[in-house]
Order: sequence, then C-alpha cells, then structure tokens
Amino acid sequence: MSSEAKRSVSIFGATGSVGTSTLDLIRLDRNNYKILALTANDNAEDLAKLSIEFDAELAVLADPSGLAHLQQLLSGTSVKAAAGPDNLLAAAHLDADWTMAAIVGCAGLPPTLEALKHGKTVALANKEALVSAGALMMAEARAAGATMLPVDSEHNAIFQCLQGARIDHVRKITLTASGGPFRTWTRQQMASVTPQQAVAHPNWDMGAKISVDSATMMNKGLELIEAHHLFPVGLKNIEILVHPQSVIHSMVEYRDRSTLAQLGSPDMRIPIASALAWPERMETDCKPLDLVTISQLDFEAPDLERFPAIKLARSAIESGGGKPAILNAANEIAVAAFLNGTIQFLEITEIVSRVLEGYSPPQPESLDDIFAIDEAARARATHLVEEMTV
Ligand code: NAD
Ligand code: MG
Repeated sequence: MSSEAKRSVSIFGATGSVGTSTLDLIRLDRNNYKILALTANDNAEDLAKLSIEFDAELAVLADPSGLAHLQQLLSGTSVKAAAGPDNLLAAAHLDADWTMAAIVGCAGLPPTLEALKHGKTVALANKEALVSAGALMMAEARAAGATMLPVDSEHNAIFQCLQGARIDHVRKITLTASGGPFRTWTRQQMASVTPQQAVAHPNWDMGAKISVDSATMMNKGLELIEAHHLFPVGLKNIEILVHPQSVIHSMVEYRDRSTLAQLGSPDMRIPIASALAWPERMETDCKPLDLVTISQLDFEAPDLERFPAIKLARSAIESGGGKPAILNAANEIAVAAFLNGTIQFLEITEIVSRVLEGYSPPQPESLDDIFAIDEAARARATHLVEEMTV
C-alpha cells in the first residue's frame, strides 16, 4: 500500500482480542492508515487510550452509561466521544474504506449489517452475526455490492484457497479444528472443568467467549454455519477435521481432486493481515511457519458423542429458519453462565439442545424477526440456567 492514499479504517470491538490484533498490525504500517471510528462495549479507559494513540475521529461506547467518563477521558483531544446503540449504528456509515466487525456475539449484528447495507468492505470476525442472520446478511451484502472478507482463520484460509476459482468447481471444503483443550478428555472428566481450564486454549490466545466455544467445540459448529453462508458449496460438502497443531487452517478440494490448503502459525494477526491489506499483502512480524520444528501434523475425525455441539449446529442449519439464531442465543447465555460459575461445563450444550428442542418459531423474514427469536431463546436459556442452579 506504499504509494496510495491512506486507507480509512473503523474497528468495531477495538478493545478485544481481534480488535487489538488489528491495531497491532496498523502500528506496523501506521502512515498508510487513517482511523475513523473505534468502538467498545463499556471499557472507556482502553477505548480512550487507543483512540488517542491512533488519533481516531470518533470513539463509541455501546453502553450509554459510560459516555460522561469517555468524554472526560477524551477532553482536550480531537477525538469525538459518543455512546449508545444509535451512535454505534451511525459509526457504521462513516466513510471507511475498511471496517473490522470484531464485536463478540449477536450484539455485533446491527452495526455489521449497517456497514454491509452501505456497501462497505467488511472484515468479518463476528461469526455470531452470520450464524443468527446469515441469509439476511448475505442478501444485503449482495444487494449493496458490499465486500465481505472472512477473518476467522478457517474462513480466511478457504477464502484464500478460493482465489481465482469457480465455486461450482469445488467438491468439498474441510474446516480444520484444534479440538480445544479437552480434545482427549472423557465426558466424565469434562463434567468438572473450571472456566479457567476452559479458556486456556492450547494454540490460540482469544477472548473468553470464543475460548469456551472452542472447548465445547460449539465454535466449530458456529463456523460450519458461517462457512455455509460464505461459501455456497452445499452443507453436505463441508466437513470438519480435527488437526491438533492448528497449522493447516482449512482446505478446499476441487472436482479434479486437487486440494489447496492455507498454512501458517496459529496467530490471528496473519488472517487479519490478509484481510487488512486485501487484495494486496502487507509485511508482518508474525512467526514464520517452521515445519521442520513442528515435524508432524496429526488428523482425526471429530468425536460427535463427546462434543455434541457440532451435531446441534449441523442440525440447526439443516432445519434452517430461526434455529441457528436460537442455537447462537442459547449458547451465548449458557457460556456467560458457565464463565460466571453458575452452571457446569457440560450444561452449556445441554441448555442449547433443550432450547432448540422446545422452541420452533416461524421462519424469520426480517431483522426484527431475528431479534425477537434471539430474545425469546435468551429468555428460555436464562430460565434453564436458573433451574439448573437451584
Ligand atoms: P473479545 O471478548 O476479546 O472482544 C470483544 C469486543 O467486543 C470488545 O471490544 C468488547 O468491548 C466488544 N463488545 C462486547 N460486547 C459488546 C456489546 N454488547 N456491544 C458492543 N460491543 C461489545 O472477543 P474476541 O475474541 O476479539 O472475538 C471477537 C469476535 O471475533 C467474536 O465473534 C469471535 O468469535 C471472533 N473471532 C475471534 C478470534 C480470536 O482469536 N479472538 C478468532 C476468530 C474469530
Ligand atoms: Mg476459527
């Protein structure tokens, strides 16, 4: 990006794991980027610090009660402070060349959809938005001519393997999975794991929610649904393969039986860099892949009995309608309850399963329908959490 004008960037979820990794990359090439908006949920301190460092035009907190504090932290600087859902939405139609969607959970759906509706180039990390409202998001993106750059490492790998290809020439997509921290554990052993054990991922350093999702393997279930929306090859042609080293980030097999894979160190800055510089390539200081030291790559089939989340996700997307939104909402509530010590690890997927079984709303036609389903599923999951804690 050397001789061109600066690329203007907004980052939703700037204080999180993906958000700060994105800013780390921008630090390496500071002069080629101009930061428009940075957003966070309620962490005014970190948001103010980053906004000042990167000379952002606007800093937005999703939580309106933090506005006064943010204004105070930003007083005397040129960064404008704002807060609340409307301002979060407004930030999505600033004139950014590139928008990072890195809010965690379905809370990221409104600003992500807003950016897509305005035909923006959106780097998508926020998989929960696509799980809940994939059909709607893809339709809006198509209608507005928006560009979606997948950031999730598997989907970024697939996107790279598909460059220059025809999607109807693809025979199979293989999503790789590390298997998480409990890959070799029995259900009995998993019954008593603590949040601390669950967030300690063997390969990746990530936010708490996605770390728990990796431990239950719901993350791979969400990624299956994400892949189904991003790459229309048919659900039955998307497979999951456990690969504990996380070196091969995913693969695409073509009809001539040629298979392309993308490899790299397990560092989210690599897929983020590929989206940030797209369609060019930027220099990074990430660890190069050293296959001699790694020496061996292992593969195994996922165990659907020990990790039922994968089955739940596949059947939710097969059923379609509101089921994926229900799966996601129930999972968000259950993961939060596990992280705060209210329920046991295995109860996460039990709650998701029970909410999916007990709730079959009519086909959602709009964003409002999806939010209504999301809310109802959250209420049902919350009720089950309460039942389990008495
Ligand atoms: P994180 O918890 O580290 O950060 C989340 C960010 O979203 C923070 O900036 C937080 O302030 C903001 N946020 C949280 N709740 C919000 C709300 N209700 N409204 C507005 N903003 C809110 O999460 P993360 O690990 O960076 O993950 C972000 C997204 O990227 C998730 O969807 C995750 O699945 C996906 N992802 C993450 C990784 C990773 O390595 N961390 C890898 C692949 C995909
Ligand atoms: Mg992933």
